[in-house]
Parts: sequence; structure tokens; C-alpha cells
Amino acid sequence: MTGLVSPTLGRFDVDRAAERRSDDAWLAQAWADGRVLVLTEKGEAPIAEGKDGPSLQWRDTSGYADDIERVFLGIYEDKPTFVIGGKRDIKADGWMDLRAVGEELSPEHAALLVEAVAITRWHDSHRACPRCGAPTEYVEAGWSTQCTNDGSRHFPRTDPAVIMLVHDGADRCVLGRNEAWPEGRFSVLAGFVEPGETAEQAVRREIHEEVGLRVTDVQYVGSQPWPFPASIMLGFIARVEGSEEIVRNDGEIAEAAWFTKDELRESKGIKVLPTPISIAHHIIYGWLDGELS
Ligand SMILES: [Zn+2]
Repeated sequence: MTGLVSPTLGRFDVDRAAERRSDDAWLAQAWADGRVLVLTEKGEAPIAEGKDGPSLQWRDTSGYADDIERVFLGIYEDKPTFVIGGKRDIKADGWMDLRAVGEELSPEHAALLVEAVAITRWHDSHRACPRCGAPTEYVEAGWSTQCTNDGSRHFPRTDPAVIMLVHDGADRCVLGRNEAWPEGRFSVLAGFVEPGETAEQAVRREIHEEVGLRVTDVQYVGSQPWPFPASIMLGFIARVEGSEEIVRNDGEIAEAAWFTKDELRESKGIKVLPTPISIAHHIIYGWLDGELS
């Protein structure tokens, strides 16, 4: 029986209070009473350094215009919580992006930051109506937009991607090195789900495209949002079936090989494995520890 991984960015369920998104009177009062996270264009957040590690630094909303474009993230610690775009014009111990600080934040702050980054990135790249090109405006507390010309509604997108460990049913798994990575850096295989296929089909297709293997026993092991720029990573493990010879067919992978558990533990031929912010880390170590099989 396959277990599930517990990825770093998915350990806390934010109360998004979605039923409030259409309640304009409530939202106006919530903005007045609430607090806000400022994110820069690069996705950096103000960070406070404390004895328990870094935390997000909230701001009072009183310094901002009542009609500023904002997204209601939900209710956290009984406070309505929002995100806005801004500059590094407030005092903070540091400004860090999700990749840099995500694994050091509490589960609550990591979940709020990934939500804030994901919805903000969608807004930043979808300013115009895809039908007619006119500007759009925020509606539903920032969880959709509406065209100012034709009134069409547009909803945030999340692109599904699969990420998967191929094993041999025993002691070995396949890791690959992306052509953009330095020598010695390895991870599990990954790729986007294409229109018209299931996640499991995407797993089988991507593995065959990237390393020429056929797999069976494809099992889901968990998911994690990955807003770089707009993905949800769907984690799987799969067992090789038939030939175990790796044949690279695809230009994205510079090299790929079978590794034993001892080789992974002793970093033989491997300099860098994924860090805990990525679901890849949890899949690899879950398999190494025998929690996924
Ligand atoms: Zn339009």
C-alpha cells in the first residue's frame, strides 16, 4: 500500500472564507479591520526574523487606498487577510521569495504565502481580456476578473503537472538531470499534463518520452501547488515494466540513470538532490524510507 507524502507548502488548510467573496459590505469592513501582505513584482514578501525562525510580516491596511486592487486570502488568526502588489517601501528584516523562505516558514505562513504568490502571479500575467483585449478588473475579492468591455468573466488557472519516481519494485529508482542544471544535480522526472489526457496517462507518456521506459502500477502519492509560474504538481510513483534500459528521447533531460538506495544515501554520483520545498524531495525520501513502494 502506497502512503502519501506531506509536502512543505501543503500542510495547512487556509480558511479562504470563499462565501465572503461576493459580500461587498463585509469585504469593505474586513479590509478596514484586516491586515495585508505586500508582494513585490518579483514575488518577494517582507519577512520578520524571530527566535522561532522567519515569519511573514503583515501590514495594517490603513496606509492603503480603499480601492487598491487586492485579493482576499481568507481569515487567519481571526483576522481578514489580504495580498496586494507593492514595492519594498516598508520596513522589514528582509525581503524573500517563496523558494528562498518557504521551507523555513511555519506551515500556516507557507500556505498563506503560496496562496498569495499563486493568485498574484495569475493577475500579473492576465491583465487583459483574452476575448477582446480590453482591460479586466478584479471581482469576487480578486478570485476572478471581468472584462470592462464585454463583461466576460475569467478565472485563475492552475496548470497540472505530473512528477514521478520510477522504481524497479526493489532497490533502484530512475533520476534525471535537466539540461539546464549543473553536473551532479538530479531529481525525479516531471512534465505537464496535456489537454485530453489523464494524470496517469501523462505519467506514462512523460516517462516514455524522457527515458524510454514503460511503467505499470502508477500510484498517486500527493500534490503541491508550485506557482512558478502556475502549476500544481501531482506526485506519483510507478514501477518499470519490461526493458529497464534507459533511452533518452527528449532534449529536456541531459542524463538519466538507475540509482540504488545506497547510492542515494551515500550520494554516489549525485551532488545535489531536491530540497524540502519541492514535492520531489518528499517523493524521493519517502521511497528511500520505504513509505512509498
Ligand atoms: Zn473582453
